[in-house]
This record gives sequence, structure tokens and C-alpha cells, in this order.
Amino acid sequence: MAEHYDVVIVGTGAGGGTLAHALAGSGKRILLLERGDFLPREMDNWDPKPVFVTGKYISKDTWFDKDGKAFQPQIHYVVGGATKMYGAALYRLRPADFGEIKHVDGISPAWPLGYDDFEPWYSAAEQLYQVHGQHGEDPTEGHWSQQYPWPAVSHEPRLQQVADGLAKGGWHPFHAPCGILLDEADRPRSKCIRCAWCDGYPCLVHAKSDAEVIAVRPILGRPNVTLLTGAEVTRLQTDDSGQTVTEVVVSRGGQREAYAGDIVVISAGAANSAKILLNSASDAHPHGLANGSDQVGRNYMFHNSRTIAALSTEPNDTVYQKTLGINDFYHPTKDYPYPMGNIQMVGKSNAEAMRGEKPDLTWFAPQWSLTDVAKHSVDWWLTTEDLPMPGNRVTTDHDGNIHVAYSPTNLDEHHRLYEELKKILNHTGMPAHHVLRKNFYADMNIELAGCAHQAGTCRFGTDPATSVLDTNCKTHQLDNLYVVDTSFFPSIGAVNPALTAIANALRVGQHIADRIA
Ligand SMILES: Cc1cc2nc3c(=O)[nH]c(=O)nc-3n(C[C@H](O)[C@H](O)[C@H](O)COP(=O)(O)OP(=O)(O)OC[C@H]3O[C@@H](n4cnc5c(N)ncnc54)[C@H](O)[C@@H]3O)c2cc1C
Repeated sequence: MAEHYDVVIVGTGAGGGTLAHALAGSGKRILLLERGDFLPREMDNWDPKPVFVTGKYISKDTWFDKDGKAFQPQIHYVVGGATKMYGAALYRLRPADFGEIKHVDGISPAWPLGYDDFEPWYSAAEQLYQVHGQHGEDPTEGHWSQQYPWPAVSHEPRLQQVADGLAKGGWHPFHAPCGILLDEADRPRSKCIRCAWCDGYPCLVHAKSDAEVIAVRPILGRPNVTLLTGAEVTRLQTDDSGQTVTEVVVSRGGQREAYAGDIVVISAGAANSAKILLNSASDAHPHGLANGSDQVGRNYMFHNSRTIAALSTEPNDTVYQKTLGINDFYHPTKDYPYPMGNIQMVGKSNAEAMRGEKPDLTWFAPQWSLTDVAKHSVDWWLTTEDLPMPGNRVTTDHDGNIHVAYSPTNLDEHHRLYEELKKILNHTGMPAHHVLRKNFYADMNIELAGCAHQAGTCRFGTDPATSVLDTNCKTHQLDNLYVVDTSFFPSIGAVNPALTAIANALRVGQHIADRIA
């Protein structure tokens, strides 16, 4: 007999970890199943060589592209999921992102709920994840019911110079929303030491607002919460009618285990959630669980992103660089009728990370030259929306392995955004010919492997023919099965996805709490 819980949650990342946190106070018995283990706290956390060059924390998974070519996805199976490595740039989608948007390559569809529906949950998410920022600075943001719980993180001198130059040039720089446990008013008592090892690194001192630190650890002492690590969910079994999940099948330590829940929530990340559903095909669900509409795995998105190291003669001594954002090109402009996207900063360059990102180009470069480049670079991150295309999809083969078919969209918009950044760089003393394109975790050059912002494989909607989930993120076809990770996104906008996944998990958490009360 499978051990029974009130709620079984698969995955402990932004979606699953936050949902568990939201439900823990209900007193109901909650089981968290996590494929990975706790990420070890060790000096390697803050060493670019193991993090970027040897990829110590990246899973050994093999996925396949549409031609069957194997690749290693940059994915992290640990308690806290991708948030252990994330840059904690915790942006809200803009109100327009919830409506239909015309892009150069097609339509970004409307969500079944609007910004107003999400606003209270965005506020709750910002409070829970202790986000620093200043609502009211960014002209593109929607209304907000609560100011950020922490003041914006101050710019270091070089970035303040850049921000001042931008404002003088007529752009609208703002303080980016950052999820770090920093208290600038009381530095000695601050958990965060304001280091460079944040974006792309695990935080050794647990001072980043990731799902492990904020959501999972604080509930582990409760008698009603159980976390099993090393527990990979391989399939879900249903009753004969196919309407209720009766067993969550787990591979743990080489053994098969089974668990049951009144409610079962999959939150394994967009690709792995689709994998679990597709690999759970049965007589009642011949094409995969909850896949009567043939939508599971489709509409895979992961942003058109690239990092740019812009060099200037002036050294950039910034340590924590993620404090600045620009949304002047988020909506169509008078010169271009389509949205281009968001510009923000990325973690500070260093020589080892450059080697890890571009081994072919840096092979012959002496260490001093890379160190010098890194010392003078100001590092930017560009994001353009990619569209949910039915043909961009996750499927699984006979052995259950993930295959991802993907062709990019909106490349013209992305190119224009880069051109706009070059104008900004010229204006702020970093002329365009001193720009290096860098490969980081989601650059288009490493298309499929850079799956950091994966989303869309089980989109929510009101029509079961075109969506997998209803507006509560319950599968249309099953009574007790939910999906609460970035899979539910019908479109991805052009800002980082985690805050929306967190806000949605809080929203769905309230619905599930009401249901099981
Ligand atoms: C380097 C990096 C930087 C990023 N920076 C930012 C940023 O600055 N801002 C931002 O908003 N977003 C950022 N992201 C993206 C953000 O982290 C993700 O969008 C977010 O974590 C997605 O949440 P999720 O719940 O969908 O998946 P995840 O957080 O990945 O959680 C999925 C969980 O499921 C577990 N799992 C998978 N398969 C199984 C299985 N079969 N059985 C059991 N457990 C399973 C995984 O181990 C993981 O714990 C970044 C990501 C990376 C990798």
C-alpha cells in the first residue's frame, strides 16, 4: 500500500517549494518529493572554476534535440531547484504581458487571468522572498498594493555613473528588484555580504532568497511536512477511470517506492513536468496523462537572451552588479512597432567564468588578458520574449528520455534590442566596438542547453482543447492533479520568470488550502 498524504508535491523549486510553504500552516500532511539532494555548502560554491568550467552542480542528464543529437542541459537537481543558482532578479510581468501582444513573428497570446488577478500574489511573493526594490521608478510596471519590503539595493559607484548617464540621455533606469538578504542600513548584522558570487552561483552563506532558504528549510521542522530527497518521480498511476491519480511512483536509492495523495502537484520544472506526464501514459491516457488536448510538452519557451561584456577604459570595481534595469524598449517605440524586451545587469565577469563560457575562444588567451578584460567590463543581460509555438515541444522516447524541438522566434526584435544597447553604451562611455558577446547560461548560441528560463509546456487556460490546466492550475482531465511550475505560462514576457512562478504557487496554494480545508 502506498503511504498516504493529504498533498504530495513533486519538486522543491520556485513553484513546488513555495507551494509547500503556502500549505504548511494548514496542518495537512504534506510530502515533498525531490529528485536531488541539498546542495552542499562548500568553498566551491563561490569558485567560478567548479561552477562555470567543470559544471560541478549541473545535472548529468542527457537530453536530445530534434535531430536526436545529445546535449547536457544546464539544469540543477537540488533542493530549491534552479533558484539555487539563479540571479534572484525578481521581476513582475508587465500588465500588457497578460494580454495579447503583436510581435514581429506572431502573437503572444493573452492569459486567462489578468495582471489585477496576479497583483496581490506578486505583492505576497515580494514580501515572502524579501525583495529589494523601489516600486514607482520603472514607468512600465503595473500598479502595486505594497511597496517592496526592503529598499532598493544601492548602485556601486561605476553603476551609479552609468545610471546617471542613462537618465541624462533620456532613458529611464531603475533599481532592479533583487532577492538577497542584505541589510544596507545595518551591514554588520546583514546576512548577505554583498559579494560577486550570486548570479549563477549557489550562496554559501544562504543569503540569497532562493526556494530552499525562503520556502523549504523554514517548514522542515513541522510535524506535518516530510521531505524525501533523492526521490525521482518516474510516473503517476491513475484509477481505471483515469480521473484520479492514485499512486506517485518514485525511484529512490535504486528502489521503487509509491506514495499517494488526495492532491498531487507536479512542479518538476517545465521540461521534467512534461516528461512525467508523458511517461505516465496508460489505457485511459494513451498519449500521456492530462494530454487529451495533445498540448503537454508543446509551447516550450526559454527567452531570447544574451550577455554582453562592454569594455571601457575606466575600470569597473563593482562587486554586486545586478542593481540596474532599463525597460525603455519593453513596449513598441516610435521607431519600431514591436516590443524588444528588457535590459538588466548580470553578475560581474571574471576570467574563469569567461573560460567556462567560451572555452574555444579563450583557450589561447593568457590569464592576465582575461583578468584585465573582466576588470574593465560592465556586464549586461538582454531578454526578448520568445513565442509559444506548438512545434517547440518536449517529447519523450521509448526509454523516457527528454527530446526538445525548438526554433527561435523574434530574433529581429532581439537584434534591435542589442542595437539599442549599443547606443546606450556609446552614450555611457563604452563604445560599441568594445563590446564582447558572451555565452552565459541562456545565450542563443547554446540554445537548448541553456534551459534556465524554461516554461510553457502545460499552459493554463479556460479551453480544454487548447490548454492542459484550468485557471487553478488543475489539469482539465484529472480531479486531483495540479502542475505548479513555469509550465503553466501561456507566454513568457521578457522579464525573468521566477517571481511569476512564486506568485502563482501562492495563488494556487490558497485554492488548494481552501479545497482541502
Ligand atoms: C543560472 C540561473 C540563473 C537564473 N536567474 C534568474 C533570475 O535572476 N530571475 C528569475 O526570475 N529567474 C532566474 N532563473 C530561472 C528560475 O530559477 C526558474 O524560472 C525557476 O526556478 C523555475 O521554477 P520551477 O518551479 O518551474 O522549476 P525549478 O525551480 O527548477 O524546480 C524544479 C524542481 O523539481 C525537481 N525535479 C525535477 N524532476 C523531478 C522528478 N522527476 N522527481 C522529483 N523532483 C524532480 C528539481 O530537482 C527541482 O528541484 C535562473 C535560472 C538559472 C539556472
